[in-house]
Amino acid sequence: METTAASTGAEAERELTDGFHLVIDALKLNGITNIYGVPGIPITDLGRLAQAEGMRVFSFRHEQNAGNAAAIAGFLTKKPGVCLTVSAPGFLNGLTALANATTNCFPMILISGSSEREIVDLQQGDYEEMDQLAIAKPLCKAAFRVLHAQDIGIGVARAIRAAVSGRPGGVYLDLPAKLFSQVMDAEAGAQSLVKVIDPAPAQIPAPAAVKRAMELLKDAKRPLIILGKGAAYAQADDEIRTFVEKSGIPYVAMSMAKGLLPDTHPQSAGAARSLVLKDSDVVVLIGARLNWLLSHGKGKQWGPVGSKKFIQVDIEPREMDSNVEIAAPVVGDIGSCVSAFLQAMGSSFPTPPADWIDTIKAKRDENVAKMASRLKKNSAPMDFHGALGALKEVVRQRPDAILVNEGANTLDLARGVIDMYKPRKRLDVGTWGVMGIGMGFAVAAAVETGLPVLAVEGDSAFGFSGMEVETICRYNLPVCIVVFNNNGIYRGTDTNPSGGPDAATTVFVPGARYDKMMEAFGGVGVTVTTPDELYQAVSAAMDSGKPTLVNAMIDPKAGTESGNIGSLNPQSVVKKKPAAA
Ligand code: ADP
Ligand code: MG
Repeated sequence: METTAASTGAEAERELTDGFHLVIDALKLNGITNIYGVPGIPITDLGRLAQAEGMRVFSFRHEQNAGNAAAIAGFLTKKPGVCLTVSAPGFLNGLTALANATTNCFPMILISGSSEREIVDLQQGDYEEMDQLAIAKPLCKAAFRVLHAQDIGIGVARAIRAAVSGRPGGVYLDLPAKLFSQVMDAEAGAQSLVKVIDPAPAQIPAPAAVKRAMELLKDAKRPLIILGKGAAYAQADDEIRTFVEKSGIPYVAMSMAKGLLPDTHPQSAGAARSLVLKDSDVVVLIGARLNWLLSHGKGKQWGPVGSKKFIQVDIEPREMDSNVEIAAPVVGDIGSCVSAFLQAMGSSFPTPPADWIDTIKAKRDENVAKMASRLKKNSAPMDFHGALGALKEVVRQRPDAILVNEGANTLDLARGVIDMYKPRKRLDVGTWGVMGIGMGFAVAAAVETGLPVLAVEGDSAFGFSGMEVETICRYNLPVCIVVFNNNGIYRGTDTNPSGGPDAATTVFVPGARYDKMMEAFGGVGVTVTTPDELYQAVSAAMDSGKPTLVNAMIDPKAGTESGNIGSLNPQSVVKKKPAAA
């Protein structure tokens, strides 16, 4: 086309934008301020430019940890956490975190660069060639790809809405390398962006469903409330507390729901869990699924068949009857559902019979007393209870601190021992019981809340994300890591059954100095051998806010195989003679 000199001049003055800037502008327009990722081809400049445009960009050492950070940022803020990775291998590393986020109902968006469609589809062997969209699809809630710069706004909007509306989950957004350098008119670009209005609309429960639930609850003789991490996510803290207290019903908090009401609350039945699951007659599930963590709502844990009726509050209609019949399904967001309960209860709702409350209290007091002496043991080497007794006190004095927790024994015992006092302060392995969330969760918890973080880690669990101590030091985050070092997985005492020179499969280097890893990057490293020393070191770290790793030497003989879930671990019953040496 012929152009005049004048129009060429106007063309040159026209302001332009490109794919990089449109992605950043689209995220910022929707209130997303943080990115967790690992730089590389083709997204290096995206991270750089995002930082230049005022976003906070946290570079990790491995994408899985960045992905876990994004996922827990989503849980803590109700906004999708964003993880940014390179193509193929980086994408795959991030995918574990995306799948885990989806399983846990955490909203997150994995944004990965990808190679050229034309070459990928003809399988001509591009750099890091992989059909990422197809691979991501079955592992997340939704997956999108954007091919044209003018569609970036819509693509980001779809990703955000898919992540946070209804049951939250992980979303994959595929951005091919070519997209980033596509240029378009800046004004048209700005107009192509979408600010998502009301991304997670309230979902009001049907009045008939609320009535059915409250009628069932009114007649209960041994009612129980179970709070799950969906209730913590919903940020309906006041409504939930009012519902529990007004009803007078005992409650059990699932791991990440601990602290919605303080674990020391008189209605907490956590220390009488087995009794209340078995003997209750009506159970109100609020944001908790009847999955393996609750023995699927049936079997001997739950008492005789037919002894139980369930009321379930959940935003996902298909969750109902997934394991057992739900007598009163209440579909909606937890804030709206619990508010509707409170209204329907009126002022004359009956409180549970006194004998039920008294039975629970007696059991709880008995179990708490039994535990108390074990927590006070100040021995070297430490056992789990002695060490956790010290950390319980650290957290009691700092109810605002965030606790990250993973491991086997370290997880199971800490969950029971360490009381939580406020909502969303306990972050752990969640629905899959996955190891490796530790440092990613710790980084994002510190970044998103600005509060001190205590990460209590089994020595094995820590190994999955341990390199991120450099990240913690680099961003100078107030994270104190305690490694429960018992020289191995479950225990540190196994020997090679063949008598050969290789170490046994479940043991690590004995007496390893994890504290030196933190020192290598300028943080504080300490080794402790008694609960008193542990208490001193962790208290000092929490008060100083300096990145710290406390290597806590635990008796290698302490610990049971697979912690509390040994029953899930098949063991061979066939006896064979060891191979001749
Ligand atoms: P836990 O492991 O603590 O028992 P789960 O992850 O099993 O918790 O269950 C969480 C449930 O909460 C999921 O079924 C999810 O659909 C639901 N959920 C998440 N957010 C909300 C919300 N805002 N309103 C209602 N239900 C929600
Ligand atoms: Mg161990």
